[in-house]
Amino acid sequence: MNDNSKCYICGGNSHIQVEPLNGDSAFIQCDTCGRFRYNFANDISKDFLASFLYYNCKISSPIADKRYFCFLGSEAEFKETQKKYPFARLITKQEIEAWYPRTFSEKIDTILLGFSKLSKYDGSSFQMTYEQYCSALFVKRYNSNGSETTQEERNSQVAFIQSYLQENNFIKGGTSNFEGALITLLPNGFKRIDELQKNQSLNSKKVFVAMSFAESMKNAREAVRKAILDTGYIPRIMDEIEHNNQIVPEMLYEIKQSKFIVAEFTEHNKGVYYEAGYAAGLGKEVIHVCKEDSFNDGIHFDVKQINTIIWKTENELAEKLFNRIKATIE
Ligand SMILES: [Zn+2]
Repeated sequence: MNDNSKCYICGGNSHIQVEPLNGDSAFIQCDTCGRFRYNFANDISKDFLASFLYYNCKISSPIADKRYFCFLGSEAEFKETQKKYPFARLITKQEIEAWYPRTFSEKIDTILLGFSKLSKYDGSSFQMTYEQYCSALFVKRYNSNGSETTQEERNSQVAFIQSYLQENNFIKGGTSNFEGALITLLPNGFKRIDELQKNQSLNSKKVFVAMSFAESMKNAREAVRKAILDTGYIPRIMDEIEHNNQIVPEMLYEIKQSKFIVAEFTEHNKGVYYEAGYAAGLGKEVIHVCKEDSFNDGIHFDVKQINTIIWKTENELAEKLFNRIKATIE
């Protein structure tokens, strides 16, 4: 276990322990990593975690103060935590590994997209602490045996990526003393960011699912999940707790990031109409799905005009949805 005065992930000093150490896990609020619960028993690379947390927790969540990420040994432990912190999200090792950029150019793209979130308006500068800059630039803080890299080794990694960003006229500034960084995105950086944002949802594997969370729809939810996974996409189904008004910005962001969306209208949930309309307005493909009796019993006129997958059993739902995705999305 780590020295108590340092963050377990980034090693920085600007953090607080939100709750006393509890068995195998610590609940930390760090100026670099955001709010998260960390289980010492996990085997996720700390370098992966530091960058993942910085980009996905510290600078991404529109409701960052209410939310934290946790790594708990079991689903049950997570459910328990969620009772106290309803915005907690369980992050798996697979998700972190899938997110982490593999190549140098993927890292550069992720850095530029991250910088665009920090830049309040075109031409504005933003400041970062050195720890944040290291997480943002994917600096290796640890050797493969778990020992820490030296300060010189970290500085030279920072200098290497920073000079690449400067030489390509993506950014101006950076760090000169390896303490803090002051950065301005240049027009060339914005140009690259625009290209990336345009392609982001086109190449996305995510599919947003809008549907009722009623108990009676549990099996249908699993059928939708299966159909999407079987076609090679990743279903994003917000759970009941996430799915309340306070997180509308988060939900709309998920829709924006999705390649297409599945809207299940059984039980006429108003949220589903809203989400489907929003996605259609963004020019996304929206696959409409509805159980037969519900479709005949009061589906809204505007939606009834659209070619809808009508189902009677969950098996039929999974099969028809699979076929529709294959036929229309690829
Ligand atoms: Zn940290």
